[in-house]
Amino acid sequence: MAFFTPEQELTLYKLHRTEENFEDYLSFLKDSLQDFVATKVAPNAEKNDRDEIFPESTFHELGELGFISLPFPEKYGGMEACFSYYNAGLETLTKGDAGFALGVAIHGTTASGINLFANDSLKEKYLPGLVSGEKIGAFSLSEPDSGSDAKAIKTRYPEDSNGDFLLNGTKYWITNALSADVFYVFANGPDGRISAFLVEKGWDGTFEQAKIEDKMGVRSSNTAELIFQDYKVPKENLVGEPGGGFKQAMLMLNGGRVTISSWSTGIAQGAYEKLLKYAHERQLFDGLLKDLVPIQKEIAEMSIEIRAARTLAYDTAFYYTQKKGDVARLAAQAKMKATEVSVYVAERAIQLAGGYGYVKDSKIERHLRDALLGRIGEGANELLTSVVIPRSILKEFEENPITDQW
Ligand SMILES: Cc1cc2nc3c(=O)[nH]c(=O)nc-3n(C[C@H](O)[C@H](O)[C@H](O)COP(=O)(O)OP(=O)(O)OC[C@H]3O[C@@H](n4cnc5c(N)ncnc54)[C@H](O)[C@@H]3O)c2cc1C
Repeated sequence: MAFFTPEQELTLYKLHRTEENFEDYLSFLKDSLQDFVATKVAPNAEKNDRDEIFPESTFHELGELGFISLPFPEKYGGMEACFSYYNAGLETLTKGDAGFALGVAIHGTTASGINLFANDSLKEKYLPGLVSGEKIGAFSLSEPDSGSDAKAIKTRYPEDSNGDFLLNGTKYWITNALSADVFYVFANGPDGRISAFLVEKGWDGTFEQAKIEDKMGVRSSNTAELIFQDYKVPKENLVGEPGGGFKQAMLMLNGGRVTISSWSTGIAQGAYEKLLKYAHERQLFDGLLKDLVPIQKEIAEMSIEIRAARTLAYDTAFYYTQKKGDVARLAAQAKMKATEVSVYVAERAIQLAGGYGYVKDSKIERHLRDALLGRIGEGANELLTSVVIPRSILKEFEENPITDQW
C-alpha cells in the first residue's frame, strides 16, 4: 500500500532536486516512514478512532525512527531538513491516521516555538527530549472563553515573593494534554500583555487535566482541559521577554498552519484513494463505477484540488524554512486551501461511494469527521479570510500601491 505517493515525490522534486541530501530524505519518506505508517499507524487507526486512544508508544517509536527530528537543529538532535520534507511526512502519516498525526503536528508546533523563542538554557533542557520524541509537547493557548479572540485569555500569572509565577486559569481544547510532558502555556499579565511559559507536571500548586469526551473527529488525538490554581512556575521558565507571548503564539500558529495544510492534504488523499479503489470494484449498469463519465469528471476535479493543496503546502513549508515572503499570509492561504479541499473531497467521496460511503466499514466517513477540524483549528478559516489574509494584502498594497491604469 502506497502511503507516500509519486505526486508527493514530484512536488518535493521541484523544490529540492539539486540538493545533496534530496535522495536521502526521499528514501527516508518513501521507505522508512511509509513502512512505519503501513505497519504501525494505519492498521490501528480504526480502533483508536473508535476507542479514543492516542497511541503514545507509536509516537515514541515515530521519534526513534527520526521523523519528529527532521526540521530541528542538529545541535538538539535534529536533521535540519527543510520543513517541506516534514510536511510530506505529515501528509503520509495523516493518510494513515489523522488523529494521531494531529498530535504529532501540535507536538512539532510546541518544539518549534521553543526552538524559535526560548533561551539557550531552556532549549538545552527541553528540546533534545522533544526532538527525539521521548517527550511530548502541548501548545496551550485556547480557553473556554477565548479561541479566535486569543488576546482575551483569562489565565493570569502573578509573581510570588521569589519572582516565580503562579499560574491561575483554565486552558481548553488542548491537544496532547493527557500525554504531554511539556506545556507551552500562554497567560495574560496585569498590563494585558500575554507572556509564555514552559510548564511541567508535578510542581507546587494545582494542575489538573480533564479529558474532553467524544469528539466527532480526530478521536485518536487526546484533547483536554488544563486547570491551574496557584501553580508555581519557576521564573526561569518564562519564554522570551515578559509580554512577548502573543507574538510568539501568532508566529507558532503560522508554523502550525503550514503543517496543517499537509495534514489536510493527507486526509483528502486518503478519501480520494478509497473512492478510486471502490470505483474500480463497484459494479453497476453492466460496468464499473469508474466507467461513469460524471464519476471520472469528479475524480479528475478532486485530483486537481489535491494537487493544488499539496503544492501550496510544500511551497509554503519551503518559504517558511527560507524565511521568504509574508509567512502569515502564505501559511493562512495554504491552510485555508487544504482544509477546504479536504472537506470537499471527503464529502464527495462519501457521496460517490453511495451507501457504502455512508458506513464506517468504508473508512471514508472518518476522513470527513477528521477534515472538519482543520477548518476550525489553528485559526478558524473565517478568521483567516476576514482578518489574516486581507490584512496582509491590504498592507502590501498600501506600501506599494498600484497606481497605473492600463
Ligand atoms: C479538536 C480540537 C483540538 C484543538 N487543539 C488545540 C490546541 O492544541 N491548542 C490550542 O490552544 N487550541 C486548540 N484548539 C482550539 C482551536 O484553536 C479553537 O477551537 C479555534 O481557534 C476556534 O476558537 P473557538 O472554538 O473558541 O471558536 P470562536 O472563536 O468562538 O469562533 C466561533 C465562530 O466564529 C468565527 N469567527 C471567529 N472570528 C471571526 C472573524 N473575525 N470573522 C468572522 N468569523 C469569525 C469562527 O470561524 C467560528 O465559526 C483545538 C480545538 C479543537 C476542536
